Amino acid sequence: MSTGGNVLTTILDAPRAPEGIRLFGLSNQELSEALREFALAQYRIRQLEEALYRQRVSTLDEVTTWSKDLREKIAAAGFSVGAPEIAETFCSADGTERYLIACGDGQTVETVWMPEGDGGDEDEVEEAASSAAEPAKPGSRSWSRATICVSSQIGCAVNCQFCLTAKLGILRNLTAGEIAGQVAAVLKRHGAEPGRDRINLVFMGMGEPFLNFDAFIAAVRLLVEEMGIPESRMTVSTSGIVPGIVRFAAERVRPRLAISLNASNDAIRETVMPITRKWNIEDVMDAVRQVPLRARERITFEYVLLGGVNDRLEHADEVVRLVRRANFPAKVNLIAWNPGPDVPFTMPRAEDVAAFQQRLREQGVPAFIRRPRGRDIYAACGQLKKTVAAQ
Ligand code: SAH
Ligand code: SF4
Repeated sequence: MSTGGNVLTTILDAPRAPEGIRLFGLSNQELSEALREFALAQYRIRQLEEALYRQRVSTLDEVTTWSKDLREKIAAAGFSVGAPEIAETFCSADGTERYLIACGDGQTVETVWMPEGDGGDEDEVEEAASSAAEPAKPGSRSWSRATICVSSQIGCAVNCQFCLTAKLGILRNLTAGEIAGQVAAVLKRHGAEPGRDRINLVFMGMGEPFLNFDAFIAAVRLLVEEMGIPESRMTVSTSGIVPGIVRFAAERVRPRLAISLNASNDAIRETVMPITRKWNIEDVMDAVRQVPLRARERITFEYVLLGGVNDRLEHADEVVRLVRRANFPAKVNLIAWNPGPDVPFTMPRAEDVAAFQQRLREQGVPAFIRRPRGRDIYAACGQLKKTVAAQ
């Protein structure tokens, strides 16, 4: 494992690279508009899309379906591929890999690869991430499926008290190309092909996707339509941004939805997620009810267990009542809080986590414990960047 301090400081401090106009991240229509002055036939644009999103080229020179002349003309006009690239890799003993991916302006963003060996038959994204299957060996091609955890912003403005990303504040939104580009970079590293390999995406990295809605949904379209990852293999998690959930409900192409509940009532939730003062649990539930669920689709409630704060059996009983009142198909993913420096919480005890799950299940609420991945490489959301930034 590399700590990457010096290298990263260099990257973080790097002067703004001469950017040109980035083509990665643009849709068919946006590419046509950006390159209008060249009056390219539609099949030329399609060749470019193929090269950007399926062959995952790094430079225009690799777009070999185009003549050298055309490639040079476009490059000379200031256009470049401009896909995000992996700047640093951290490998965990459990096969998880965590990356800092360089965006154009010298900023980096976190992305995580979680491979799974064969041995589970769960058909849902969240459960793939929590499967009890044997982890794949690092660096090997022994995985039969994998989940990529994608960031939507650099930092986050929501200020959840247990979350390390919150400590960064919000630095900026990511563009659609920077969101989809994290996936492209990781697929490229592992030689993974969405058509052949079972790749799940979770938008659960840094940031609040519903506070960067346009770029998030544009990225989803690129991932589905250009990169061939089915929307049913994607899950987006939100802290409960009601206007975002309402917009999401109206989207034609959309991932599954997870809500970070993290508390069993508004009083506790306000203390751990101050955003509750703006939209309380009932407001969030009302918005979620507007999402037209597909066959067999369930809403996931994520519940980070914080030792002594929200992990008692009475809290489990309150969660059961909340889920029953919600009156839509739902399940609960329990996550033991991952500790980080200067975050004033304690981990729940293993027996409390197990008892919490059992209490939910006894009362008919499907509940899963998400296995922590990559603890040795700073597993919690935002931990890597925060740790590196502090060096
Ligand atoms: N902003 C979105 C998505 C990113 S956070 C959201 O909050 O839903 C993804 C998940 O990680 C959330 O459910 C969040 O509650 C959880 N999380 C954040 N910090 C954590 C920590 N230190 N340990 C365990 N889970 C954490
Ligand atoms: Fe932002 Fe999600 Fe962290 Fe809350 S848990 S601060 S919404 S990234």
